[in-house]
Amino acid sequence: MKNKKVGVISGKGGVGKTSLVASLAYLTENDRDINSIVIDCDVDAPNLALILSPSPNNNLKRKDVYSTLKASFQKEKCTQCKRCIDDHFCEFNALSWDFDNNIPLIDYLSCEGCGACKLLCQGYAFEINPVKSGEIIYYISDIGIPIVYGKTRLGSTTSGKLVTECKSYIEKLDGLEKINLIIIDGPPGIGCPVIATISGLDYLIIVTEPTPSGLHDLKRTIELVQNFKIPFGIVINKFNIDTPFQVEFKKYFNETGFDIIGKIPFDLTIPEAMSYAKPVIEFNHESEASKAIKNIYTQIKNILWNGK
Ligand code: SF4
Ligand code: SF4
Repeated sequence: MKNKKVGVISGKGGVGKTSLVASLAYLTENDRDINSIVIDCDVDAPNLALILSPSPNNNLKRKDVYSTLKASFQKEKCTQCKRCIDDHFCEFNALSWDFDNNIPLIDYLSCEGCGACKLLCQGYAFEINPVKSGEIIYYISDIGIPIVYGKTRLGSTTSGKLVTECKSYIEKLDGLEKINLIIIDGPPGIGCPVIATISGLDYLIIVTEPTPSGLHDLKRTIELVQNFKIPFGIVINKFNIDTPFQVEFKKYFNETGFDIIGKIPFDLTIPEAMSYAKPVIEFNHESEASKAIKNIYTQIKNILWNGK
């Protein structure tokens, strides 16, 4: 079977994206046709590892990523002219004056690495260097699936680059030729990390829920995905919650005709499974939510390999 890459995204956080990814991964482990790997590209808040945790005695592999630029200061070159402060070199307010030592101070978290201070200082007292922006972690989960995830360092401004590094990381893994399904848990929103996540994928699952914010963010996500011309299907989580907004929500799908590939009912076994840090399908494979996810899994396989 040809290797396929499927991403699970949602414009809005908290709609069940990671929970769905964990259950899909669990289903692949019990499917003799599929060898999968999962990448958590939600690098600002990776939490798939909480559900698909490392197997006991499994050695995690870690790789530092240096993709954020920050300014550093070389005291020996500074003439203490104070122009960097008086002439307001830094648009990001990352520079302040240390009156005790008569030198500028750089606020690491505020510095965007723009390079203006380096350009403007006549003493050449500033340098711009890459610093650690996060790390990539690789392990085999307790259900037997390899997991890769990225974790952004506090103050890093380059989540999109870390996402790209995560996706590239798996290309060097031993045994990649046996993998025929790459499942990617994407970040919420429509910004740079999402764009880095979805580029080059074969198919996208967009998870939403029948709420005003769910529909609002779904529309923005679809607009983004259509720009990239990636085929997609929609999963509606808690599709049967009783709310007056259901009328408008259903009207949207009737009018647009977008492909709904699954509807997951409101089911208390999902939060219960989360409290045990398990995929719902492992926790209770007969629950209504699990049955719906099994249908979604079958649909995805059909779409990816049979084109329907
Ligand atoms: S860092 Fe540069 S601009 Fe700032 S006080 Fe020193 S020499 Fe002057
Ligand atoms: S690199 Fe840019 S953001 Fe950072 S301290 Fe210098 S001027 Fe400010």
